[in-house]
Amino acid sequence: MIIHFPVKTPTAKIEEIAKSLEAIVLKDADKFALITGSSVKKLPEEVAKLATESFVFDSDIQLASKKYTSSVREIQIGKTVIGGKSNNTLLIAGPCSVESEEQITQSSELLKELGLTALRAGCFKPRTSPYSFQGMGIDGLKLLDKMRKNYGYTIVTEVRDATQVKDVIDYADVIQIGAKSMYDHGILKACAKTQKPVLIKRGFGTTVQEFIQCAEFVLSGGNPNVILCERGIRTFETKTRFTLDLCSVAWLKEYTNLPVILDPSHAMGYAYGVADLARACTAMGVDGLLIEVHPNPAVAKSDASQQLNHDEFRGLVKSLKPVAKAVGRTIV
Ligand code: PEP
Ligand code: MN
Repeated sequence: MIIHFPVKTPTAKIEEIAKSLEAIVLKDADKFALITGSSVKKLPEEVAKLATESFVFDSDIQLASKKYTSSVREIQIGKTVIGGKSNNTLLIAGPCSVESEEQITQSSELLKELGLTALRAGCFKPRTSPYSFQGMGIDGLKLLDKMRKNYGYTIVTEVRDATQVKDVIDYADVIQIGAKSMYDHGILKACAKTQKPVLIKRGFGTTVQEFIQCAEFVLSGGNPNVILCERGIRTFETKTRFTLDLCSVAWLKEYTNLPVILDPSHAMGYAYGVADLARACTAMGVDGLLIEVHPNPAVAKSDASQQLNHDEFRGLVKSLKPVAKAVGRTIV
């Protein structure tokens, strides 16, 4: 249950009620909001008297629920807005990993040519093998920061453990939590303490319920700027890397107030399918896309098979614009 109290309620009273209900307290300029588990359906009479409003839920999807806030929350990403009243579909693009200054500069030049503003690349890579490239770490973050300064880009990059959150906050504009780390409470709690947008990727064995409950950790910890990213789940199918779960995207759009971004690159795992999938995703009227593109995919140090080359990416961007327009959206 979420219960609102007037902002002038004495803090000691709020704390007393929170303790008795085992609730988390959130405060903003005009109210206190207490959040209990969803099993609480009714308030004690003396608490109800002090409350201005209360919301009952059938599961622990609460702050993220449309039942709580009926419109999609607006999130400022650099100079761009997604969600809210905007019709933007933010195209976030870049190589899987930062590999060198030359490579990330080539990616930046491509985005500039296409009028895009959100550059994404990983510096702390959560690889499935300890023998693969693990990312450039802090040196990679410094290169991204250089691109941010030189080109004015919004930087999206991943944290792999909680000790990296501070550096990523310093150098990037959006913190990405990867599919393999979305259950990491150290990361979630560190991301809750900042107001930087957090892009949470769905684990490939994660139900939608579990996925959004991870988002609830960030929201209830005080950061309202959470974006969900569907990037494919594991099914019995082995011909493609993962299975992009568009049904769940429809569910997220219907029942949650969080902006949704789709990542066809990691779902497909092969460059040949990415453009078709990206157009299908755009047609769903989502808030953003995440596409991997590399100056020379054949020599990429991670995810080589799925990254588009620059010409393929140019063609894709051109083809996405009319699809976005057909569903009342603009690619930005
Ligand atoms: C990535 O975005 O490069 C990545 C590692 O993706 P995921 O966490 O979805 O596997
Ligand atoms: Mn990747």
